[in-house]
Amino acid sequence: MARITLEDLAHTYFDPAEGDVEWAVRRLDLEWADGGAFALLGPSGCGKTTLLNIMSGLLRPTRGRILFDDRDVTGLSPEARNIAQVFQFPVVYDTMSVYDNIAFPLRNRGMAEAEIAPRVAEIAELTELTPMLRQRAAGLTADGKQKISLARGLVRPDVNLVMFDEPLTVIDPHLKWVLRSKLRELHQRVRTTMIYVTHDQTEALTFADQVVVMNAGEVVQIGTPVELFEQPQHTFVGHFIGSPGMNVLPAKIENGTALFGGQPVEVANPVAAAEGVVELGIRPEFVRFAPTGIPATVTNVADAGRYRIIDTESRGHSIKLLVDEGEPIPSGAVNLGFAPGQTRLYRDGWLIGGAGR
Ligand code: ADP
Ligand code: MG
Repeated sequence: MARITLEDLAHTYFDPAEGDVEWAVRRLDLEWADGGAFALLGPSGCGKTTLLNIMSGLLRPTRGRILFDDRDVTGLSPEARNIAQVFQFPVVYDTMSVYDNIAFPLRNRGMAEAEIAPRVAEIAELTELTPMLRQRAAGLTADGKQKISLARGLVRPDVNLVMFDEPLTVIDPHLKWVLRSKLRELHQRVRTTMIYVTHDQTEALTFADQVVVMNAGEVVQIGTPVELFEQPQHTFVGHFIGSPGMNVLPAKIENGTALFGGQPVEVANPVAAAEGVVELGIRPEFVRFAPTGIPATVTNVADAGRYRIIDTESRGHSIKLLVDEGEPIPSGAVNLGFAPGQTRLYRDGWLIGGAGR
């Protein structure tokens, strides 16, 4: 196992000499602590797979270094890095049995058959493949084949790191929950560093102790699921995490006071030093109907089971609220209150007075 450090990492698939470069990874400084359960969360195209492939050695970064503990591995082959990687779509040897597929990485490292058998049995149990061990991989469904890929990624006890790249994409929804909690359980048992890549916030938040949120080739925030929810450092994080995401409204700071639509709003972050045009972020969970406050009109009510999502409009801007089922909903003209401790101002996306980049 190892602590993994990424230093000033960047990658482009195009030749920088040709100009007009699209950076898949723009700039990345990051440390993955030894033994952690991490998620790498971000929208499709933000650079997650590129980053994993750089870490595993399938891609050479355009710029920057990768260290395992203090050893520079930037130029090393994938084999020399001793990493297991599970891809989005199954990679199996169709003509081999399920057993032989799972045993493959162990045989490859020269492990004795007597040691291989119990290890394969344990991982097959975890991935619910025990009844299929003697079957040929070719006969399995896409689900089954992806379970083989997972098992192969998990079978080696001595790896530095296991990386999962959206591993449950082809798995049916019920089994997704089962496998994810098993992965989490396994991590608690073996404590190998694991990085779980996904664009799905639920998957990230349920698997990881620490979530790295990426957007457009950069890390925007690293935090526990609770920190990401309660203290988004960037409006992107507020939007992307939570359902529905944070309301982001145009606001102004004048003489140290935050204003929305000309009306003073109490905010949680220090804004006295800032002036001018900003963005106000407030999660739908923390907007309430109030006797006085920001005037708005209810435009839609959607039932989401235990709570309802209310759309309102205020001065041409849409503001969402989450309201528990059973709570009365006024109609027509209403007033909204923003919980002061949960209302924050951002400039160019970044939290004012926050950790920033
Ligand atoms: P993610 O895994 O987050 O969806 P990727 O790392 O696959 O993101 O892609 C990041 C960016 O790099 C995207 O804009 C994508 O179109 C581009 N990209 C990915 N792979 C290649 C490639 N082989 N050649 C050129 N561009 C690529
Ligand atoms: Mg990807």
